[in-house]
Amino acid sequence: MVPPIDNLIRALSKLPGLGRRSAERATLALVRKPDVLLDALIAALQDARASVCCCPVCGGFTSKEQSPCKLCTDPTRDDAMLCVVEEPADIYSIERSGGFAGRYHALMGKLSPAKQTGPSELRLRSLAERVSRSGVKEVLLALSTDMEGDATAGYIGELLKPSGVRVTRLAFGLPADSGVGYSDPLTLKRAISGRMNV
Ligand SMILES: [Zn+2]
Repeated sequence: MVPPIDNLIRALSKLPGLGRRSAERATLALVRKPDVLLDALIAALQDARASVCCCPVCGGFTSKEQSPCKLCTDPTRDDAMLCVVEEPADIYSIERSGGFAGRYHALMGKLSPAKQTGPSELRLRSLAERVSRSGVKEVLLALSTDMEGDATAGYIGELLKPSGVRVTRLAFGLPADSGVGYSDPLTLKRAISGRMNV
């Protein structure tokens, strides 16, 4: 194919869930109807690039016009409960489950010697600050159930010990190596209500 089409296919195929074949199909549909599909995609991409940012409080995605985000500023949510997740996307999974009405804190990863992610690469200092500052009574760790998730949970348990706050963890009735991103809303809701002390 000609370079502009090939470049577009290559760029799209780097997205999760889009293999080479689906990227090719999407690209050919886009160039087939440039006025309808391509222009709308360009506008949406430019808008996202210009206005999407991370909420300075929870780390989740929001827009520059709405910062801190809606979840952090909603007065009906429970300040006493703080849910710690690895990635901003996990916030949406938990929201979809409808099982949690507190606040969120995204770490931006988990402790991983293999990926050279140490405590200073994660949003741990701001977590400790939030817990000591605001009226948080329970920190719910919604982390993956692999070794790295376990190590991160253990680290946070120690980090927050001096604060005297209750630290709990999701109870997945599932084998290891599962987590927020892989669970359906109902499983997540059960994991939240069955949470256990760390
Ligand atoms: Zn927020």
